[in-house]
Amino acid sequence: MNWISDWALPKISGLFKRDVPENLWHKCPACEQMIFRRDLDAALNVCPHCGHHMRISATRRLECTLDEGFSRIELPKAPADPLRFRDQRRYTDRLKEAQAKSAMDDAVAVAHGTIEGQRAVVAAFEFAFMGGSMGAGVGEAIVTAAKLAVLQDAPLIVFTASGGARMQEGAVSLMQMPRTVIATRLVKEAGLPFIVVMCDPTTGGVTASFAMLGDIHIAEPNALIGFAGARVIEQTVREKLPEGFQRAEYLLEHGILDMVVKRGEMRATLARVIGLLRVPLVLRQPEVSVEEVTVLSAPEEPSPPAQA
Ligand SMILES: [Zn+2]
Repeated sequence: MNWISDWALPKISGLFKRDVPENLWHKCPACEQMIFRRDLDAALNVCPHCGHHMRISATRRLECTLDEGFSRIELPKAPADPLRFRDQRRYTDRLKEAQAKSAMDDAVAVAHGTIEGQRAVVAAFEFAFMGGSMGAGVGEAIVTAAKLAVLQDAPLIVFTASGGARMQEGAVSLMQMPRTVIATRLVKEAGLPFIVVMCDPTTGGVTASFAMLGDIHIAEPNALIGFAGARVIEQTVREKLPEGFQRAEYLLEHGILDMVVKRGEMRATLARVIGLLRVPLVLRQPEVSVEEVTVLSAPEEPSPPAQA
């Protein structure tokens, strides 16, 4: 507490301080190698040494999935803090902080555009926004995305990354489970593909609702996907869980997923899947009637089972 430490030292260190950003390097949490931030960004947050998929922001996700020129849509406002919830801090304060940090209103961003030239509506969860938890705002985002997909006659793709229901919204957050399920049903009823890409982690109420109802289930490598945490399950069933339990590769092996796709190949994979699921545009020209297309592509009647 003297003038040297209070005044002189900061001045001197200020003189020599170079303008180097502190986060120029990033340490991979899996292999602990240092990665140059710019390289990591170019590799879409995938470690170039060990292939570990780190989390990626919703904004970046939209950018690397959709073709240039996509439009992000404004989402309807959900009632903020319906229960006037407070734990150590007020829920409204937590919300404000998350909004300022992420520049998003809630934990999901929605955009429409094209993926390798094919129309698509994409919703991406932002895990950094209160653990990607699903409250009324997230429910509203999924409903809006689903309605937009129907309106645009485009497939709906949702990238999930969520800890589950948002406990600060209590029953209101649980209500988002049936809401989102009904919303994705609208997409299916319109005959449009609904594709879920599960990212690390996809758990709780999101897994227990729309995330498990996709036509195609894709996941990123090693993503944690499950309902309850492994420790809770172990304590309940009193058994040691197998190696890799609740990880993407394990779930692929056990039939919960259709594909595990690296982030760098996701865009091309989505484009291929959409191309396979949708009637090609050539066949949708007015000169070819819908009936003709249906007849052309209708599978043959299944033959009756042979009598034993
Ligand atoms: Zn690594």
